[in-house]
Amino acid sequence: MTDRDYGVPLSEADRDFRDEIRDFLAAALTADIRAVPRTDCERLDRMRLWQRKLHDARLAAISWPTEFGGRRATPVQQLIFNAEMAGARAPEPINRSAINQLGPTIIQWGTDEQRDYYLPRILSADDVWCQGFSEPDAGSDLASLTTRALIRDDELVITGQKVWTSKAHYANRIYLLARTDPNATPREGISYILADLDTDGIDVRPIRQISGGAEFSEVFFQDVRVPLRNVLGPLHDGWRVAKSTLGYERVGQSRTHRIERRLDILLGMAKEPNALSESGFEDTFVTDHLVRFTAQVEALRQIAAQATAAGVRGMSPGPEASMAKLLTSEVDQAMANFGLDLAGAAGTLEPGSPSAAKKGNVAKSYLLMRAATFGAGTSEIQRNVIAERLLGLPRDP
Ligand SMILES: Cc1cc2nc3c(=O)[nH]c(=O)nc-3n(C[C@H](O)[C@H](O)[C@H](O)COP(=O)(O)OP(=O)(O)OC[C@H]3O[C@@H](n4cnc5c(N)ncnc54)[C@H](O)[C@@H]3O)c2cc1C
Repeated sequence: MTDRDYGVPLSEADRDFRDEIRDFLAAALTADIRAVPRTDCERLDRMRLWQRKLHDARLAAISWPTEFGGRRATPVQQLIFNAEMAGARAPEPINRSAINQLGPTIIQWGTDEQRDYYLPRILSADDVWCQGFSEPDAGSDLASLTTRALIRDDELVITGQKVWTSKAHYANRIYLLARTDPNATPREGISYILADLDTDGIDVRPIRQISGGAEFSEVFFQDVRVPLRNVLGPLHDGWRVAKSTLGYERVGQSRTHRIERRLDILLGMAKEPNALSESGFEDTFVTDHLVRFTAQVEALRQIAAQATAAGVRGMSPGPEASMAKLLTSEVDQAMANFGLDLAGAAGTLEPGSPSAAKKGNVAKSYLLMRAATFGAGTSEIQRNVIAERLLGLPRDP
C-alpha cells in the first residue's frame, strides 16, 4: 500500500505506526481467526478473541486518550489503522460500537468510578455491550421513547421494551434510555442507564431475520432494579448524553470495509461466465455497473476518511458522516442486488444448497442488505440531515 492509498502524506512516525500495524496483523491474523465461522455464535466468539488480541497490543481503541488505554491516535493514524485492517480483511472487534460510541461517552460524561470500572472491561472484551435505544414506537423519532424508570430510593425500577438491539443475545450489558421524569417535555426527563443483562426482569428475545440469522433482539424490562449510580451523566438529562453517543457513532473503524470486499467479489464474479454475459468485462451493461461501483467505492473511501479525521479531531462528523452512511448503505445494497443479477437463479439459493452461488452468500447478502438503509439512521433521515445542514434547506418539522 502506498501513501496515496491513505489519501494523505505520511510522516516518519506514521510510517513506523503503519509498520507496527502490519507486523501485528502478520502475527495475529492466524488461521483460526481467518477461518469461515460455521455459526453466528462462532463468529461472535471469534470477534471477541480478535478484540483480545488487539487489546494485548494496545490497539483496541487507538483514538481513546492514553490514560484510558488508548493511544490518542492522530486522524492520519486512525486512517492508517482502518486501511490496514480492511486491507488484511481483519474481523471487527466484538465491542466495535462500545469502543466507538459508549467508551467515549463514558469518558466524556462518566464518574471516575464508572470510568475505572467499565472502560478496561470494554477494551478487554470482558464485557460485551449492546445499545438499547430504539423501541417499537421510537426509532427515527427517538425522543418519543416510553420505557420508564421510576426512582425508588437509591434504585431505578425500569419497565418497557427495546427492539432491534444488536448482539443482545450475546452481550452481558446494555446501555439504554428511559424516561425518569414523566412530566418533562419529550427530550427532557430521559436518563442514560448502564445495566447488566442478567438482572432479574430482563427478557431477551432474538428476532429471526429474513436472512435466517438472528443478529438482534427484542429486550423486555419488567420492574428491573438498577442502582441509581448506574445513570451515566446527569439524571433526567440523558438526551444530551445520548447525543454524544450518536455523534461518536461513525468514528473509529471505517465503514467502507464491507463495500470494498463486496466490490472485489463482484469483480471476481464478473470475470467468470455469469448469468449476464459469457465474459463480463466485454459486456457494456456489466462494465457500466462495475465502473460506477468502483468510482462510488473510491468516493466513499474519501468521504469516510474525512468523517473519520473530523471525528478523531473531536469535531462532530456532521453532514459528512450522514453522506458516508447514506451512500455506503445504498451502494452496498445496489452491489448486493447486482450480485444476484450476475449469479442468476443460483444466486437465490440459500447456504446449504449444493447449487447455491458463492455457498449461498449471494442470497444471504441480498437479504441482509435490506436492513442497511435502516440501521444507524434511515436513508430518509440522513437525507434530512444533508438537506438541512449541508444544503441549508428548511428544517424537517
Ligand atoms: C441492522 C440494524 C441494527 C440495529 N441495531 C440497533 C441497536 O443495536 N440498538 C438500537 O437501539 N437500535 C438498533 N436499530 C434500530 C434503528 O436505529 C432503527 O431501525 C432506525 O432508527 C429507524 O427506526 P424505525 O425502525 O423505528 O423506523 P421508523 O423511524 O418508524 O421509520 C419508518 C420509515 O419512515 C421514515 N421516516 C421516519 N421519520 C422520517 C422523517 N422525519 N422524514 C422522512 N422519513 C421519515 C424512515 O426513513 C423509514 O423509511 C437497528 C436497526 C437495524 C436495521
